[in-house]
Amino acid sequence: MAIWVVAEQQDGEIKKVSLEILSKGQELAEELGVELEAVLLGEGVADLADTLAAYGASKVYLADDEQLADYSTEAYSQVIAELIEDKEPDAVFFGHTAFGKDLAPRVAQKVETGMLSDITAVEVDGDELIFTRPIYAGKAFTKSKVLSSPVMATFRPNVQELAEPQEASASVEEVDVDIDEVRAKVTDVRKQSGGRVLLTEADIIVSGGRGMKGPENYKILEELADVLGAAVGASRAAVDAGWRPHSDQVGQTGKTVSPNLYIACGISGAIQHLAGMSSSKYIVAINKDEEANIFNVADYGIVNDLFKVVPVMTEEFKKVLDK
Ligand SMILES: Cc1cc2nc3c(=O)[nH]c(=O)nc-3n(C[C@H](O)[C@H](O)[C@H](O)COP(=O)(O)OP(=O)(O)OC[C@H]3O[C@@H](n4cnc5c(N)ncnc54)[C@H](O)[C@@H]3O)c2cc1C
Repeated sequence: MAIWVVAEQQDGEIKKVSLEILSKGQELAEELGVELEAVLLGEGVADLADTLAAYGASKVYLADDEQLADYSTEAYSQVIAELIEDKEPDAVFFGHTAFGKDLAPRVAQKVETGMLSDITAVEVDGDELIFTRPIYAGKAFTKSKVLSSPVMATFRPNVQELAEPQEASASVEEVDVDIDEVRAKVTDVRKQSGGRVLLTEADIIVSGGRGMKGPENYKILEELADVLGAAVGASRAAVDAGWRPHSDQVGQTGKTVSPNLYIACGISGAIQHLAGMSSSKYIVAINKDEEANIFNVADYGIVNDLFKVVPVMTEEFKKVLDK
């Protein structure tokens, strides 16, 4: 009996979302009296098993092979599906990231089980797992369970609390990698330029909308973001205007983010924008229209001109954070 977390790794590091799911998995495994185990795929990634152990994995299934050096839906889903059929875990969890959103449904289809996506909470009821997920662009939440086995789910990043890492080790079982022909493979990986933290992994996001008036004005958001170690996001209006790249867009047709702090500047708070950020822990809105919908979800609201407020915030944070 086991809960599995399929770990996501990049550039020699396990992604935070995988550690968050392991942290939650520890609680669930304890309550259900089952093992918590991890699955790790890649090339030259064996050392990362220790990190997975530190966050509660008692065992790591390691598929370390040159054919897995770059992510490929076909290769990764084949390896994981075969492993599931062999070991029969009770539940298999992924991050709700580009990787997990692509991989989990393919694996679920291969092992013919049900899957729930974008989970924000999970609880144990008897020996079952009950998952909470947003619907109708975040306007409502449903509680659902998967009736087939294994139970599969993808978890929204930055929602589950990260446990303190422990001194621990896991047994490592090497997985034989026997991959059929892979029809699509990665030929080039283009990294986004700039050293700023990724939007979906950021603890703090400073986001700008149509109220920014033009691309040149994002400089003031970037200055604030630099002081806070934050990522910069945008509304669709700003992206459609060509002020920011689509990769910065937050919302229903952009990224779903759950940072600790989301600072919305000149964003009205349309339902499609809220769908991507309303699960942020604290929302600060700066808008000169006191009737703007964003204030309905904001924990702190500043009714004023953002061009006056943002530079003052930057200066004050510099003082407080000693930068
Ligand atoms: C199918 C569909 C999918 C969509 N997906 C998304 C999505 O993923 N993400 C998304 O964001 N939108 C999405 N939209 C668009 C969405 O409906 C809104 O049009 C969009 O979010 C509006 O962006 P905005 O808030 O920046 O602009 P606006 O609604 O124009 O708001 C600008 C705000 O800036 C304020 N403002 C102006 N000047 C200042 C100033 N100097 N200081 C302070 N405040 C100021 C104004 O008061 C106003 O509230 C989608 C729409 C559809 C139909």
